Amino acid sequence: MNIGEEAYKELFPNYPEIRNIEINYSGKFKSLNANVKYDINRIIFSLSKDWMEYSDDLRKGLIQHLFLKVYPRRRYNKPLALDLYEKFTENLGKYTKVEESDSELVESFDRMNYEYFDGEMEIPNLRWGGKAFTKLGHYEYASNLVVISDIFRNEKELLDYIMYHELLHKKHGYRKSKTGRIMHHTKEFLAEEKLYKVKDIEQKLKWFIRKKRLKKAFLGF
Ligand SMILES: [Zn+2]
Repeated sequence: MNIGEEAYKELFPNYPEIRNIEINYSGKFKSLNANVKYDINRIIFSLSKDWMEYSDDLRKGLIQHLFLKVYPRRRYNKPLALDLYEKFTENLGKYTKVEESDSELVESFDRMNYEYFDGEMEIPNLRWGGKAFTKLGHYEYASNLVVISDIFRNEKELLDYIMYHELLHKKHGYRKSKTGRIMHHTKEFLAEEKLYKVKDIEQKLKWFIRKKRLKKAFLGF
């Protein structure tokens, strides 16, 4: 089953199967553009080549998004991949773009990786959030990206804790509950978060946020 057929089945499990789903990658498109064309015989998705760098799940979500344009009147339950795609597009452009990860972030990652993950975690993309970023930290599954608020520049102790939290998201992933809610802070996640060695770190974080007068501050997902 190709990714197009998978996307269709997840989105419309109760509708008749369709065949001849084609997916092309084109260098002609601008970054992250895509479209869909169809006739009675086949459906053709054309994606910009840049999409090849993203996860299967995210591309599946994109294709589901396009399927909804082909079949606008059909009923569906939103699949996880489509939800992921919608979140991803909401967040596009929000981050300051850096080609190489900042050394302060890389050093924090190295400390946490060595201390808590036996040095075995692969380094994700790491970025500072920039001015428009309103969270303390965030992990973007689709692009394997940790984003951390600029307020933690030169705040090594707190930066490490936020880094640790976001790396736990990378490690644990997410789950869908029985009611369809997406769960990010699972029991296992919270148990592992408690292993953090600085026991009063939450208190320190609170004080710091108060000092910075951040009204709306919340952790990642
Ligand atoms: Zn979180």
